[in-house]
Amino acid sequence: MAKQDRHSDQGRVFTCQRCSQCCHGQGGIYYEPQDLPAASASLGLAVQEFIARFCAPEGSRYSVLTTADGKCRLLGPDGCLVHEAKPEICRRWPFFDNILERASAFEEAKLACPGIDPDCSHAEFRAYWQREINKESDPS
Ligand code: SF4
Ligand code: SF4
Repeated sequence: MAKQDRHSDQGRVFTCQRCSQCCHGQGGIYYEPQDLPAASASLGLAVQEFIARFCAPEGSRYSVLTTADGKCRLLGPDGCLVHEAKPEICRRWPFFDNILERASAFEEAKLACPGIDPDCSHAEFRAYWQREINKESDPS
């Protein structure tokens, strides 16, 4: 079975359904300054134009704007407009530290993300992350 079709741990763990549920909500998505050139280039824009259209400076980072109905401004009709250069937080989801550390947070993540197999255990999820995504450190 192709890896992109099924991130599998004995047939269970995570397969992104491309539902875009994780691209809805107000705030919480940020670019670090060093990631802006790649994001801008992926849309053929200058950095300042990209910031003007999609971001709001917030401290040392750039918050990605949302629409009035709570969609990320970088969400297009066919998914993320900057898929190859999306913010780190988007690249990491659903493998966040608190989800890896706490079983209760993992159960909440299952409700928010249909890509996580509902039958997958927290231990399986952690083992998959350790083996496939972060082979060098453990969150605990
Ligand atoms: S940057 Fe892309 S992946 Fe991240 S929330 Fe926006 S549309 Fe979704
Ligand atoms: S909520 Fe989960 S399944 Fe849906 S697009 Fe986001 S990561 Fe993929």
